[in-house]
Amino acid sequence: MTQPIISFKNFTFKYDSQAFPTLKNINLDINKGEKILIAGPSGSGKSTIGRCLNGLIPNIDTGDIEGECLVDGKNIQNTNLFDLSFTTSTILQDTDSQFIGLTVGEDIAFALENDCKPQNKIRQTVHRWADELNISHLLKQSPQNLSGGQKQIVALAGVLIDESPILLFDEPLANLDPASGVKTMALIDQIQKELNATVIIIEHRVEEVMRQSLDRIILINDGEIVADKKPNDLLHENRLEDIGVRSPLYL
Ligand code: ATP
Ligand code: MG
Repeated sequence: MTQPIISFKNFTFKYDSQAFPTLKNINLDINKGEKILIAGPSGSGKSTIGRCLNGLIPNIDTGDIEGECLVDGKNIQNTNLFDLSFTTSTILQDTDSQFIGLTVGEDIAFALENDCKPQNKIRQTVHRWADELNISHLLKQSPQNLSGGQKQIVALAGVLIDESPILLFDEPLANLDPASGVKTMALIDQIQKELNATVIIIEHRVEEVMRQSLDRIILINDGEIVADKKPNDLLHENRLEDIGVRSPLYL
């Protein structure tokens, strides 16, 4: 039996500035190559789980931890942000805050520049992904001047280029119209297959995520996991309405 790539064991986390824990006794194993949706009401702790996976907790957002969280075998309590950056790539809800380059091309290249890859390899890889994602014509533009959907795809390229084993999407459909949402989900699916990555999607727009195949849905409420099931099992338990799915057309 191979080790899960993500493992929370009796994990409780309280932000320094909060009086009570935001995550409570989380037990969760995710295997390599799984595609998981984390859903639940606003403020339930979804993004906080994401922040554990990319090392923002405890490196930037400090607090009290009980239990443990292992990401690709690394205990987040003894791992710095830089080391976890090779393991987990994150797309933030607010893509504007993750653009660093003056042009789309520079922005996509950033992760490879950071890894000190040779320039010809960087150029080659940027063009390959830009081609794949149909954004070659945008490479010389400023990321700030793109439409919401284009920004999302450029942000996607910027994290995919790193080929990290875990891809974390925190509300990837926010600000996208339904058509761009469908396109983004299809891209995530395609990229997962190409990279054989583990994909964690945090999203309110559950129905749109469920158009793509998902291995499991994790439901969080008030910092606790209240369900960890295959989409079909949630359907049979009539629990999909709890997370805003009215018509289970996509299962
Ligand atoms: P949403 O769906 O609105 O994005 P969420 O499920 O992602 O919500 P989190 O962002 O994980 O929720 O926040 C859960 C709770 O943790 C919040 O109600 C807030 O009290 C607390 N919290 C989140 N981020 C911080 C932070 N950086 N510092 C202190 N407390 C925080
Ligand atoms: Mg959130």
